[in-house]
Amino acid sequence: MTPHDTPVLSTRGLEKTFTIGGTLSRKRVRALGGVDLDIAHGEIVALVGESGSGKSTLARCLARLEQPSAGTFLFEGEDVMATSKRRATREYRSAVQMIFQDPFGSLNPVHRVGHFLERPLRIHGAASGRAAMEQAKQRLMQKVGLPAEMLERYPHELSGGQRQRIAIARALAVNPRLILADEPTSMLDVSVRIGVLNLMRTLCEEQGISMLYITHDLASARYLADRIVVMFAGEFVEGGDAMELLANPQHPYTRLLISAVP
Ligand code: ADP
Ligand code: MG
Repeated sequence: MTPHDTPVLSTRGLEKTFTIGGTLSRKRVRALGGVDLDIAHGEIVALVGESGSGKSTLARCLARLEQPSAGTFLFEGEDVMATSKRRATREYRSAVQMIFQDPFGSLNPVHRVGHFLERPLRIHGAASGRAAMEQAKQRLMQKVGLPAEMLERYPHELSGGQRQRIAIARALAVNPRLILADEPTSMLDVSVRIGVLNLMRTLCEEQGISMLYITHDLASARYLADRIVVMFAGEFVEGGDAMELLANPQHPYTRLLISAVP
C-alpha cells in the first residue's frame, strides 16, 4: 500500500452526545450518531444537510475543538485520539485547518490584516526575520488573489469576500493537508461566492490539500466537490459522486433537498 492509498482522514462510528440543561431538566442531544467518513488525498467532499443535522459538530470533532463521545478517527493512518501528547496535537492543529462561516468573527478588529498572517507563519516556522516574514505574507496574499497593500488594512476595511480570502490565507500559512470549511461562502453574494469557490478549488488542486466543504447550498456543493455526503439527524444517509448523486438521489431526504432548490 502506498501512502496515498491511505485516506487523509478516516472516521468510524464517530458519535457526539451533548448534555444540556441543569439538574432539573437534563436532556441529551445526540448530534452525531455514528459517522463513517473517508477523505482521500486531494479530494474535496461536500457535506450537505439541513440546519441542526450535525455538520458543524462533525467538523468541530475533526478539528479537535470537541471531543467525540465514541468512535475512532485516523489522520493519515494514525489514531488521532490516542495521540494526546502535546506535540502531536500541535502538529495536528497545523495539518488540519478550519475556516468558518463568518470570517469577521475570527478576526480581532483591533489588528491589521498582516497581523493575522504573522502568528500562523511564526508557529509554522516558515519565516524567520523581518524580511522573510514580509515576503511570506506577500506570497500568501498573492496566493489568495489580494494586493499586498491590504496587509495594512483593518478587517472592517475589507469586503466579506476579501475577509474570507484572508481566512483562507491564514489557513494556508501553516501548509495544511486538510481544510474543514464550515459554510465559508454562506454569507457571500453569488458572484463573490464563485470567486471564493474557484480559489479554494485551485488551491486544493495545486497544493494537494483535501477539503471537507460544509454547505446547505447544493449548487456550490456540485460546483466544488468531487463527492457529496448527505447528513440527516446526525447520520450520513447517502453519499457518492457529486453529479451521480444529484442526478439519481436514493434517499427521500436527498430528494427533498434537491426538490427544494428553485
Ligand atoms: P449544523 O451545523 O448541521 O446546523 P450542529 O452540529 O450545529 O448542526 O448541531 C447539531 C445538533 O447538536 C443540534 O441539535 C444542536 O442544537 C446540538 N448542539 C450543537 N452544539 C451543541 C452544544 N455545544 N451543546 C449542546 N448542543 C449542541
Ligand atoms: Mg453548522
